[in-house]
Amino acid sequence: MEIRKATGIVLYSRRSGEADVTARIFTREHGKRTFVFKGLKKSKTRPQSAAEPGTVLDLVYYFHENRDYQVVNELKVASRRERVHDSLARIYHLYYMLELIDRTTGTGDPAVPLYELLAAALDRLSSSPHTVSLSVFFTLHLMRMHGILPDLAACGECGRRDYDRFALDFRHFRVVCASCAQQHARGRKLMSAILRDYLARAPSTRFDEMAHDAPPEDELTDLLFFLALFVENYFRMELKSKGVLFMRAAE
Ligand SMILES: [Zn+2]
Repeated sequence: MEIRKATGIVLYSRRSGEADVTARIFTREHGKRTFVFKGLKKSKTRPQSAAEPGTVLDLVYYFHENRDYQVVNELKVASRRERVHDSLARIYHLYYMLELIDRTTGTGDPAVPLYELLAAALDRLSSSPHTVSLSVFFTLHLMRMHGILPDLAACGECGRRDYDRFALDFRHFRVVCASCAQQHARGRKLMSAILRDYLARAPSTRFDEMAHDAPPEDELTDLLFFLALFVENYFRMELKSKGVLFMRAAE
């Protein structure tokens, strides 16, 4: 048994028993772990927001190797980014990003770059109006870090890279140039060359350097849906947050 310190972001939490809260937290130092906050629900000194998804916590706990969960001794809310909770759209994107991390990482996997990605994304979520672009950007970089980002700059059918308009082929998870789309992805909506440029730049560019208002919003939404399906298919799971995110987009 050793005393550990960690900084982490709450991915998911639920009440357990009378007054305890169990939370999955993505820590910078030790990856994803499950923690129990004893008596949090009845505590007058500990903030209730400590266990809310998206909250960043500084933790002190005794680490037990063979236990499924760790008991938190001390906690401090490092930041909560109040503005994220101001709008439903932001909350949906927050839950999407947290779930994406939760469902694609294993317990204790070392994950500093992923942690940095999530922390930066939560920062932008509280300040940027481009929430759909942020989730697209987040998904692309998460895929890159997991080593599963396919070559989206080449037509998946003929391989050419100098196409203008293209279709998203949801069945085979690839992009298809306009002329191949006529033969192989009939009926698919054609995306603009502006989205192609966005897609080519995003994996190697900082979020703040992207022109988020350049691609039409409906194309970005289609792209986000495409990427979310890709990740679901790859990890053989279903993202619960996806439903509400796209039900909203379809309104
Ligand atoms: Zn082609």
